Amino acid sequence: MRETRSTCCYCGVGCGVIVESEGQRITGVRGDPDHPANFGRLCTKGATLHLSTAPSLRALQPELRLARNAPRRAAAWDEALELCAARFADVIRRHGPDAVAFYVSGQLLTEDYYVFNKLAKGLIGTNNIDTNSRLCMSSAVAGYKLTLGADAPPACYDDIDAADCLFIAGSNTAFAHPVMFRRIEDARRARPDMKIIVVDPRRTDTAEAADLHLAILPGTDIALFNAMLHVMLWEGLTDARFIREHTAGFDALKEAVRETTPGMAAQICGVAEQDIITAARWFGGSAATLSLYCQGLNQSAHGTHNNAALINLHLATGHIGRPGAGPFSLTGQPNAMGGREVGGMANLLCAHRDLANPQHRAEVAQLWGVPAVPETPGKTAVELFDALRSGEVKAVWIACTNPAQSLPDLGAVHEALARAEFVVLQEAFRDTETADFADVLLPATTWGEKEGTLTNSERRISHVRAAVPAPGQARADWRIAVDFAQRLGQALDDDGGARGKPAPPGRADEARRLFPYDTPEHIFAEHRESTRGRDLDITGLSYALLDERGPQQWPFPEGAANGTARLYTDGRFATADGRARFVVVRHQGVAEPTDARYPLHLTTGRLRDQWHGMSRTGKVARLFSHEGEPLLHVHPADLERRAIADGALVRLASRRGALLVRVVASDVVRPGQLFMPMHWGGQFMAGGGANRLTLPATDPISRQPELKHCAVRMEAFTPAHEVVVLRRAARGGTDGAGLHPHARHETGSLPPGGAAPALGRPGDGALAFLEAARPWLRRFDYASLGLAGREVPVVVLRAGGTAPASDDPQHGGRPSWLLSDLDRDFGLGEAAQTLTFADARRNVAKRALVEDDRLVGVRLVGETVARPWLTDWIAREQPARPVRQWLLAPVAQPPSGQGGRGRVVCNCHDVAEDEILAACRAGADLPGLQARLGCGTSCGSCLPEVRRLLASAAQAA
Ligand code: SF4
Repeated sequence: MRETRSTCCYCGVGCGVIVESEGQRITGVRGDPDHPANFGRLCTKGATLHLSTAPSLRALQPELRLARNAPRRAAAWDEALELCAARFADVIRRHGPDAVAFYVSGQLLTEDYYVFNKLAKGLIGTNNIDTNSRLCMSSAVAGYKLTLGADAPPACYDDIDAADCLFIAGSNTAFAHPVMFRRIEDARRARPDMKIIVVDPRRTDTAEAADLHLAILPGTDIALFNAMLHVMLWEGLTDARFIREHTAGFDALKEAVRETTPGMAAQICGVAEQDIITAARWFGGSAATLSLYCQGLNQSAHGTHNNAALINLHLATGHIGRPGAGPFSLTGQPNAMGGREVGGMANLLCAHRDLANPQHRAEVAQLWGVPAVPETPGKTAVELFDALRSGEVKAVWIACTNPAQSLPDLGAVHEALARAEFVVLQEAFRDTETADFADVLLPATTWGEKEGTLTNSERRISHVRAAVPAPGQARADWRIAVDFAQRLGQALDDDGGARGKPAPPGRADEARRLFPYDTPEHIFAEHRESTRGRDLDITGLSYALLDERGPQQWPFPEGAANGTARLYTDGRFATADGRARFVVVRHQGVAEPTDARYPLHLTTGRLRDQWHGMSRTGKVARLFSHEGEPLLHVHPADLERRAIADGALVRLASRRGALLVRVVASDVVRPGQLFMPMHWGGQFMAGGGANRLTLPATDPISRQPELKHCAVRMEAFTPAHEVVVLRRAARGGTDGAGLHPHARHETGSLPPGGAAPALGRPGDGALAFLEAARPWLRRFDYASLGLAGREVPVVVLRAGGTAPASDDPQHGGRPSWLLSDLDRDFGLGEAAQTLTFADARRNVAKRALVEDDRLVGVRLVGETVARPWLTDWIAREQPARPVRQWLLAPVAQPPSGQGGRGRVVCNCHDVAEDEILAACRAGADLPGLQARLGCGTSCGSCLPEVRRLLASAAQAA
């Protein structure tokens, strides 16, 4: 067994991991005790990384299609890259360099990002390169630059330990950055007087831990922050000396917030006036206040001003540049920071240079040895896909991201991808929503297989190391970009050039000169040099130093002994005169207010155990056990008013689209507000997920879209029939490979040679069933797909809709095609050991498959109440014999004592809610629960919920 130090590839906390591998297989992962981001801790997502590496559903060989709507076929790398180069060169020749675009990802490593940026801006001559970080951090970038002069988070993780007041705004840290939340819990334990204020429309787990929760209405952050400043001014809590010596523009802001009284803000924000006053007193009156903020502020049509309004509070109180004090944006993606550092966005250049600055463009042109960097601003994410839809951009190269799931207004995005002349997707997984649109699919390496660097939220650069070789024919992202660049140079020569007429010769030579890299370290050296003398100067860093001394924070200039933990400690900011700027900002509200037709607020956010569009976490069964299907969280009063039962289906509609989703009653949201996780996309639910509804309104400065909120209406939906299919693969996992070819065909991507990929790890068979089930998401009005279980994953399909005409009473009044197709696709049809039950009068049709006295598959139509306990039964591989009589009984009740366990709260120790509540009722306290059940003793992600269950049990008692 080999051990390799690397990092987690999920969130911006940037935890260090130790990857265990045997030969070409990753077999385990644990937290790196020496990594300063996590000191050995991991959350549920990081701790299951090794379970996400099964080869099923990986892209392992290039695929291409020569005609739209034709299926892709396997191809050699040379053929695929030649095609990409020829098509890009052709578009560039016909329409100019701005007719092509790149859309990349905060999942890429810094070296990958650097090469893509140079490819677009240096070789092709277009600034049309943007990234999914635009959806995540661009408002934080713009907010920092507007106020502090540079895109540099001034604080660090150690500040959590030193803060007297933590102000957490627009961040469910407990779910989105769990290891950081553990640190907050530790700090609170060590310093019980520390105050925690949470600003969030929902009462999240983070809010539960707060001393003060301000459940503001969506889009009212600025009114709150301005009112807090009003109180601070009124009560003398501002720092006049700091304002005088280190800032500019305070008088104008003071004038502007004069009218924002806490009383007025209380009405706008929907919170108590006294709570606003208390928040201002705690923030302004503490010795050190640290703000942590994330998408709740950023994903807004005025996200830059949200950020600026919060930073105003820090500047006004002098809570910056000291231990425990400062505004600290939490990065969503693992390497959004690295992408910003190399200028991998449409408006940036490498080393925090600005595209709009002619001197910066000249510096970069000189660094790269090209005549010029183009001046025309590139298209930002939403603009890029708009331009693709209108035909202004003809060809797009998408790397390591899934815009067909993650961008707002998905209907328009899908239209754009369908209309594009040429779509290249460079991806590790072949089953993302975007893969359906790709003309060329290029297999990329992913976590555990890549080398390079990334930068976490606190500016800390880690060396990411590969634990295993690339599987199949996958290549590193930077390598693919370099290979393409060199072929494109040749194709441009062949085409007569792209930069003007007559064409300058020698583009192939230029490409070879611009992209000489043979290792990621070679790229890092060039990136490092580009930072010399800049705010993020890392000329003192090297891979060797990172290996020897561990991850380091920038700046780390040549000759420095250490990195820099905290910025602006001398009160000098990154502006021309060294003074930070106050920005006058006013309340603007949400981009799409509610009205009579769309009277409800839909907010979106994260689940504890899923990550982004689930291309990775969606393959790990146990990560479904906390919330296993797409659910719309609705306040009980809103359900009651509409006579909708908890667990029923509703039709949720915005101005851009509609979908069917199941509701769950939840008093975590206020009446009038709904919450839907953003993870579920078209691979897991019919309708495409929350972004079918969200709107593409963007912030005028950062161009970040308002993904957090839109106006919707909700109506009851009663399906004429309901269907449940449960299916597990054999232990060892290959029995999904022999599925009917129909099931594979409809996924749009045939594996190389048309054969099933090499399977053989636990869970692989389940993934094959998952793939087989996906076409069913398009065959029902309502459908959701997920996994259940742990060691033996079970695929769970829940579906329903308006019934087609009954054509076969023998099959319980259901159309026989539906049953026979379902049974075929899930392998329930032909085996000898099937049990069937049909009741045409009640429109019920059920089938169960038993192998070796174990239940391995069930199909229920018309009567589905047995789903929870049958799922458990299959996942736990219990003998089928004792439950045969119950399996398909007319109304399938579980045998006594087998009603299902409820949702799993502690993923590490597989402890369910019902088990915790039972122990609470028996008198257990937290240590007792931990001793008896083990819950909350490993990663700790479940601790907030365990405490809540304890409290609710105590209250009930
Ligand atoms: Fe990964 Fe969790 Fe750490 Fe984020 S907090 S980097 S998801 S282990």
